[in-house]
Amino acid sequence: MKCSRCEKKAVYYRKYEGQWQCRNHFTRSVEQRARKTIRTNSLIEHDDRIAVGISGGKDSLTMLYFLDKLTKRRKDISIFAILIDEGIKGYRAHGKKTAIDYCKKLGISLVIASFEQEYGMPLDKMIKEGKKIDKTVRACTYCGVFRRKLLNDTARELKATKLAIGHNLDDEAQSIMANNIRGDMQRSARLGAKALVVEDKRLIPRIKPLRDIPEKEVALFAMLNNIPVDFSECPYAEESFRWSVRDMINNLEDKYPGTKYSIVRTFDQMLPTIKKAFANTKIGTCKNCKEPTANNICKTCILLDKLGL
Ligand code: SF4
Ligand code: ZN
Repeated sequence: MKCSRCEKKAVYYRKYEGQWQCRNHFTRSVEQRARKTIRTNSLIEHDDRIAVGISGGKDSLTMLYFLDKLTKRRKDISIFAILIDEGIKGYRAHGKKTAIDYCKKLGISLVIASFEQEYGMPLDKMIKEGKKIDKTVRACTYCGVFRRKLLNDTARELKATKLAIGHNLDDEAQSIMANNIRGDMQRSARLGAKALVVEDKRLIPRIKPLRDIPEKEVALFAMLNNIPVDFSECPYAEESFRWSVRDMINNLEDKYPGTKYSIVRTFDQMLPTIKKAFANTKIGTCKNCKEPTANNICKTCILLDKLGL
């Protein structure tokens, strides 16, 4: 099949647009879309020092490649990478190696922080200990809270002005639906390409340059641009609530192409109103660790306390 725009052989059929794309047109359209996300949401500003959260997976390394390419000639902008080693046996090690090698190749400095160093226990052990107290405990609950905090702390220590995370369109659609199903609008207020509701010096604004690119297209982009990718899945992923939401949205997308875009676009129209509703949320200080929280004690401290850490 030929590209819908030129005579070259197509490598991809973009079902939701009914377009065949050759390698060049596909790559260009993905980059254009990411640039548009950055431009329309002012994700990158003068003198930014961007911490790029990477895992070794396709999304984060594609984001690193793209941000490196985009900011290379900008003297006022610098980027560096942060990898969080959660301590998941047989999963993180491979991604870590891929990430280290790729950062070396691009000449980008990489900082590695681990749950074990920071919290005194790898995630695998946390889950074992957590299950002794509560059998229904899910790995992602611990992982999400601890990783978010460690990423923010590390970025802040290294004086980053932005923290880039590799969320793609699928991730964003899943977060929107998961929050809707749980009825958690406060959490929805933190979504969007620039994820910050209330300004607080202690919280580094999180930016999502790949938010408008479907997961499948990020994977193809990585392959076509020789970005090394670790395709291994976290062993805990299937037990997560997000996994069921992901299945549901993927089934809908198969039957009704464009579903993921519709979910995100509709949400974007409501986002200013949702953000406004929570704009007066007071960010306080955790009595225990002095980190920002909306409650007396932050989630990290609550979970650490449960584990006796
Ligand atoms: Fe962590 Fe859950 Fe993601 Fe695994 S699937 S890396 S446990 S958040
Ligand atoms: Zn705390």
